[in-house]
Amino acid sequence: MIRSLLVANRGEIACRIFRTARRMNVRTVAVYSDADAGARHVQEADEAVRIGPAAARESYLDIEALLAAARTSGAAAVHPGYGFLAENADFAEACTQAGLTFIGPPAAAIRAMGSKILAKRRMAAAGVPVLPGYAGEQQDLAHLEREARTLGLPLIIKPAAGGGGKGMQIVRADGELPGALAAARRLAESAFGDGALLLERYLPAPRHLEVQVFADQHGHFLHLGDRDCSIQRRHQKLIEEAPAPAVPAEVRARLRAAALVVAREIGYVSAGTVEFLFDGSEFYFMEMNTRLQVEHTVTEAVTGLDLVEWQLRVAAGETLPLTQDQVRLSGHAIEARVCAEDPARGFLPSAGRLALLEWPRLDSVRVDAGFGSGDTVPDNYDSLLGKVIAWAGTRAEAAARLASALDVTYCAGIATNERWLARILRAPVFLEVRHDIALLDRSLAEFAGPDTVPVQVPVLAALALHQASAAGARSSPWELADGFTPNLILPIAYSFACRARRITVELEYRNGQPVTATPSGAQPEALAEVQTGEQTVAARIGSQRHRARYFIAAARIYLWLGAAAYELLLDDPRTHEFSATAAVGGLTTPLPGMVVSVAVGVGARVSAGDVLMVIEAMKMEHTITAPHAGTVKAIHFARGQRVPEGSELLEITPE
Ligand code: ADP
Repeated sequence: MIRSLLVANRGEIACRIFRTARRMNVRTVAVYSDADAGARHVQEADEAVRIGPAAARESYLDIEALLAAARTSGAAAVHPGYGFLAENADFAEACTQAGLTFIGPPAAAIRAMGSKILAKRRMAAAGVPVLPGYAGEQQDLAHLEREARTLGLPLIIKPAAGGGGKGMQIVRADGELPGALAAARRLAESAFGDGALLLERYLPAPRHLEVQVFADQHGHFLHLGDRDCSIQRRHQKLIEEAPAPAVPAEVRARLRAAALVVAREIGYVSAGTVEFLFDGSEFYFMEMNTRLQVEHTVTEAVTGLDLVEWQLRVAAGETLPLTQDQVRLSGHAIEARVCAEDPARGFLPSAGRLALLEWPRLDSVRVDAGFGSGDTVPDNYDSLLGKVIAWAGTRAEAAARLASALDVTYCAGIATNERWLARILRAPVFLEVRHDIALLDRSLAEFAGPDTVPVQVPVLAALALHQASAAGARSSPWELADGFTPNLILPIAYSFACRARRITVELEYRNGQPVTATPSGAQPEALAEVQTGEQTVAARIGSQRHRARYFIAAARIYLWLGAAAYELLLDDPRTHEFSATAAVGGLTTPLPGMVVSVAVGVGARVSAGDVLMVIEAMKMEHTITAPHAGTVKAIHFARGQRVPEGSELLEITPE
């Protein structure tokens, strides 16, 4: 058996592989770039080796650096995970030549799938259904144009050497054809060093089905059922499930058999996935991923197997532990990919420090995470923070369970997509399996969620803030901001920015107890049964009881109410946080944003309250004013520049 294992990867997949290795008493070796020195996968391994700077090309994609790390750590085997070098035949070969066991297929099997053109021709010849198209040798653009016209529109152009959906072009109108072919050729050459293109009929609304296959070194092949990964955004999978729903039994049987034909055809070994498009009646071979996939977890949930354990055993020369008849599938599992990206801002990737990342802890819910509270998400790599997987007896129950699990996933500090994923899981179009791979690109807006801010949100936020400031100031009775003055009614106003709105709430305290809340432009609401803890705040507001989870980070309050998450920015002069009066002479921003305008120049004399700078953050403009009179000594950001959280914006020498 393998004694020590280096994982040539990072994030959740490195952590996930280490978990199985530990259980099997295999010594674990992590590798890391400078951006990942403090990462979770580094902490979880028995040993960790630095492989280079942040850029993936100089670290996770550097074959020499990885081999050197294996040598210095004495690792006997290498697991590539997914992405990076996982489907690089040269890497597999280099590992083998260096005397290391590569946890994956033989280099020849990876190469056989390396060209979409050759793979498609070979599989068509083996009797696997493929979409009509051109997968020929003659590659000059004029010839491709003629072939495209014969094929008809719409069609898709794919770089033969491509991957990750990169460089593909969809052609819908005849006039677009020459331009699209030329663009695809350029992209293929620059991105993959190979200009060869594959033409294929484009299916406007197919589902993505795939089959998990496994093979050992002794010629045994089996499948572990199918999956559906049709919830995608721009060809990136977001929600995956096993088994694939709404597939007729006869089609499913043929699909699984076809996957095994593909695996046998290329002499496959280890875990692999054969991907197909399904148009509702027929399926077509797309490609085979010659590695463990992100979504292998849903297959593990319905089979009860550990695919990484199988990979290690197969690599050590063992035979497959089960026969096809012994593989049992039970229930339904769905996975959601929690990513550091902002659904409210065009899925802009988000990076930085995770002030809070709390994963769900529920029965039949599995979490494979690469990050947690306090970790920093570098902006050099992909945005996957972790995966939440729910299992249940039926698909409907699994979807509900996963959505509930995402409701109790709490992240603060950077933008994440878990609430957006939960909305998809609850949408009738998903529950009734009326979705397809183009759903999100077609009707993204439907899942945006309400843009409103219910009145209880600012009220609960104000109560939470009040509690926090009272707790923080308890040491000095004069600082106490709980309004405790016997028999006196004392209003305290909080002003927030939330979802491009400015909302003010006035809390009225009697004998230290909050009694009414008056949101801007609304009637006062009676408050009762107010309970504030360190993380939760509850109150009866008018006639309704509400309970929320909250988290405070500098001038921001995160509030989670049911399935919705709110981020409120406190703009309260008493806190002196957002008005940028934090430090004398030094003006910092508590939130990242962009400089919209700079109103002063170096050397300018300013009075207290003068406008210095305007920053756009969270879709709102915020004015930075002078905390005191003085002279502008330095300006650190110009118009149009991004300002990271905590940046000093300018300096003023006090008068
Ligand atoms: P890559 O290797 O770059 O991931 P694939 O061939 O696997 O390329 O295709 C990626 C994605 O593009 C698929 O998951 C699917 O969403 C879409 N796609 C590929 N081929 C077609 C097609 N013929 N019709 C419609 N969509 C397609």
